[in-house]
Amino acid sequence: VRFQEWGEDNFIQHLADRFAVQGSVVGIGDDCAVIPLSSKESWLVTTDALVERVHFLREQIAPQDLGYKALAVNVSDIAAMGGQPKYVFLSLALPKTLEAAWACEFLEGLESACRKWGVQLLGGDTVGSHSDLFINLTLIGAAETANIRYRYQAKVGDHICVTGHLGEAGAGFKVLQAGLLRKGDRDLLCRAHQRPEPSPEQGSWLARQAGVHAMMDLSDGLACDLKRLLKSSKKGAQIEIERLPISDQLARVCAENGWDPLQQALTGGEDYCLLVTLAAEACAELQRAFQQKFGGQLFDIGTITEVWGKLVYLKQGKEVEVPYAAFNHFG
Ligand code: ADP
Ligand code: MG
Repeated sequence: VRFQEWGEDNFIQHLADRFAVQGSVVGIGDDCAVIPLSSKESWLVTTDALVERVHFLREQIAPQDLGYKALAVNVSDIAAMGGQPKYVFLSLALPKTLEAAWACEFLEGLESACRKWGVQLLGGDTVGSHSDLFINLTLIGAAETANIRYRYQAKVGDHICVTGHLGEAGAGFKVLQAGLLRKGDRDLLCRAHQRPEPSPEQGSWLARQAGVHAMMDLSDGLACDLKRLLKSSKKGAQIEIERLPISDQLARVCAENGWDPLQQALTGGEDYCLLVTLAAEACAELQRAFQQKFGGQLFDIGTITEVWGKLVYLKQGKEVEVPYAAFNHFG
């Protein structure tokens, strides 16, 4: 079997089984590892790699944006557990032909992200590479242990909510790949792809609310990430397609190009907003308080159900097939 067929999620399951952890630490399986620090606080640790030609094309993203994004995607994982980002380590594999100016501009973007989120760079590693650039960040955050939220905490009857519009970043990537002129709506989508804006403020606020049960960030698209949350919580879900937050900008760019906005919203990826499940009785009040505090909406898109692995999409109350998101009975 090749790795391609084995699949990332199966490989990670294999790792988790092989490296089961002992004591009060939390290892593989959520957005961050959790290491107790004191009786009340814990460290959160996450790491993410960006590989040239896999995650980005060097001629399509400004080095400043890439530096900014490299930190942003890790901040998103800290936010997803309810923590505040603190310290970062940077490892780079750089091709020998890389312009020094490129590296400096990359660091400029990273530095501005560090400033924005109050993160200090404490170390890293630099090595050569034959042709492709490889970037890895390890980010350490802190959280109040009692408030940390996990993917496994969803309960039957919970409302499923997201903190932002879906599919914009993924469509922005398509705009860039198709070489479309970058202006108006299209430019906004490209910016969503190149400058994700995760919010530890929202994450830690949500984590302090008793009505917030499970939480994770959306990095690989709702269809994929929701399955991970369900698998972890051993639950099912129904999602109401009409309630998925699709911005007017995304709808217009999809219409112009013959793209399916639903497919973009479910599978586009790199949304870097939060996916939360809320106790049904707390939902309306949390939505109101969230809106008042952050100005953005907590979009209620469906509910958690009992049957493990059963993910159903509803349109006007009727079950519909969504081929690119189909996945019942997780294997
Ligand atoms: P995210 O998208 O939130 O960054 P991932 O899907 O990358 O999460 O990873 C899921 C879980 O698997 C995390 O707990 C991560 O630390 C772990 N993981 C992924 N790859 C490896 C690896 N090569 N070795 C050990 N743990 C890994
Ligand atoms: Mg994550």
